[in-house]
Amino acid sequence: MPASGSRSRIAVLGGGGFLGSHIVPALLARRDCVVEAVDLTFDKLAVPASDRLVLTRANIDEPGVLDKVVERADTVLSLTALCNPALYNKDPLAVIDANYTDLVPLVKLCAKRGRWLLHFSTCEVYGVVALDGAGQPTRTMNEDDTGLFLGPVHKERWSYAAAKQLLERLIWAYGNHAGLRFTIVRPFNVIGPRMDFVPGVDGEGIPRVLANFMGALLRGESLPLVDGGHQRRSFICVDDFVDGILAILERPLVCQGQILNLGAPDNDVSIRGLAELMRAAYTMVTGTGAPPTQDVTAEDFYGAGYDDTRERLPDVSKATRLLNWTARTTLADMLPPIVADYVARYRSARSRAAAGAA
Ligand code: NAD
Ligand code: UDP
Repeated sequence: MPASGSRSRIAVLGGGGFLGSHIVPALLARRDCVVEAVDLTFDKLAVPASDRLVLTRANIDEPGVLDKVVERADTVLSLTALCNPALYNKDPLAVIDANYTDLVPLVKLCAKRGRWLLHFSTCEVYGVVALDGAGQPTRTMNEDDTGLFLGPVHKERWSYAAAKQLLERLIWAYGNHAGLRFTIVRPFNVIGPRMDFVPGVDGEGIPRVLANFMGALLRGESLPLVDGGHQRRSFICVDDFVDGILAILERPLVCQGQILNLGAPDNDVSIRGLAELMRAAYTMVTGTGAPPTQDVTAEDFYGAGYDDTRERLPDVSKATRLLNWTARTTLADMLPPIVADYVARYRSARSRAAAGAA
């Protein structure tokens, strides 16, 4: 049995990452539980010490780590991943391991020990565009009806989506045939403070679009629009997303055995449109002009094997019905505070990096 006394114990694997750094404080503030956050680093996690918080700095691949963490927990939130599209065609072996191979033991342990596994999958499983089970185009992506349409194998972009999809199928099979209590969440482009890194300051390479545009704005360099930026995403504010996760935790009986989209269809925008909104927010926050956008080809930007999702719009009717939840924050409301957070956080970090380089 979990050793947390009368309080429930929630393990958050990947609790030091972008989403984890928002979920862990929310759990501590809004639920009477013990939280064990597990990660390689906790640099993003700014929470006061508490007897309800255990930080376990560990690699979940290390022998015995998952076994002990799962044994101690009632519920396991599984967020560890390599989930940066720039890696999917550059390092697919690591991407497949992080998103599938390394997590197979977790699924088995949760089934064996009777723990509720709340697994973070991805909207990427829907693939290039929304198609129904017969291959006909649909507008939105639905958990129970939409097919999963990935590009050819040589388009290594889909290594992540395929790994996530296979893990979903494994979890589903353990649920259906071996008694695993599970919920699978498919997040749709969550954005907020502390997402990824700013290249040259606290990471190298190409982060996800919000952080990459922020890096360009902070450096005064043009914002790169891959293939013209015509691709569309619907961005959900991390605060709305966290509300959805907490609503799931409050409703174990209705959510177990379910796959749930968590997204904000009203915030559907082209990447070009996002760039313009971020440029405007940057000007509003800093009082200075923003650099322009610049078209780049996917091949030049990400290299061979990249491919893209053209349009990604969630059907959130199931989440709304089961959770009595809906994302409320508009892009106009969320972007200025996110941009302001990056500007404040990275102003001092950039000057330290510049001083170090001099
Ligand atoms: P993130 O990269 O910020 O966080 C992942 C965390 O896992 C990192 O802190 C990393 O250090 C940790 N980690 C990775 N491998 C580990 C290992 N072997 N041992 C210990 N820790 C390890 O990502 P995120 O944006 O917070 O995403 C969390 C989850 O949600 C992921 O599973 C991701 O696929 C999924 N997701 C996120 C989004 C989004 O918009 N943020 C969208 C779709 C899916
Ligand atoms: N993108 C872009 N410029 C960038 C970074 C990304 O045009 O600097 C595009 C990318 O090609 C994709 C979209 O923005 O079409 C969203 O990228 P993100 O990295 O957030 O991941 P995705 O939504 O594809 O998983």
